[in-house]
Amino acid sequence: GSHFPVELSISAFRLRGRWWAVGTARDITDRKVAEARLREMATTDSLTGILNRRRFLELAADELERARRYQRDTALIMFDVDHFKQVNDSRGHAAGDQVLRGLTATARETLRGADILGRIGGEEFAVLLPETDLPAASRAAERLRRAAESMELLTDGGPFAVTVSLGVVLLNPGETLEDLLKRADQALYRAKQGGRNRVEVG
Ligand code: GH3
Ligand code: MG
Ligand code: MG
Repeated sequence: GSHFPVELSISAFRLRGRWWAVGTARDITDRKVAEARLREMATTDSLTGILNRRRFLELAADELERARRYQRDTALIMFDVDHFKQVNDSRGHAAGDQVLRGLTATARETLRGADILGRIGGEEFAVLLPETDLPAASRAAERLRRAAESMELLTDGGPFAVTVSLGVVLLNPGETLEDLLKRADQALYRAKQGGRNRVEVG
């Protein structure tokens, strides 16, 4: 009474003036499960469970194409944990990992379902916001900043707080994903230079 995937092969043959067919149906559930696991491993960041860099870039490129075709505003936020090296140095690498997981959960709660969130570097994240103009994206970034700041992190080394710096940009007509990311990175750099725990709009 259940469904399962099969691999079907049928061949025809002629016997005593008539056509016949013989076939096999093989249950390929195990293969499908293994394929899904491989796909998951290739597209997901194992620490945080969100999109890895490669998959983020793929989905972002798709989204940019859609944005161009339908002339929709599209924004990108890049953010990076402030003084994360100190977190690792003072609390240990495992606590640093817990911070990254906590931050991911917070970002997921703060963002919309349509937003594409990925971990693009060690402690660097990017969000592509479809159908979002610059003021709305800036507000989203500010929400993220505040949510990160007020996160209560309980690590093995006790409670403490982290902040993030963010760069926000709007897709220009004809701009490549690479250029968009570069501008976001530059805005993020300015946020760091400007004292961290802040949003810079590029
Ligand atoms: P800034 O405010 O300028 O961003 O300072 P920072 O210390 O956060 O910046 P930097 O990029 O120099 O350091 C990033 C650190 O992140 C270095 C690396 O040890 C740590 N890191 C990268 N990936 C991971 C990870 O998966 N887990 C942990 N615990 N740490 C990581
Ligand atoms: Mg950092
Ligand atoms: Mg960094």
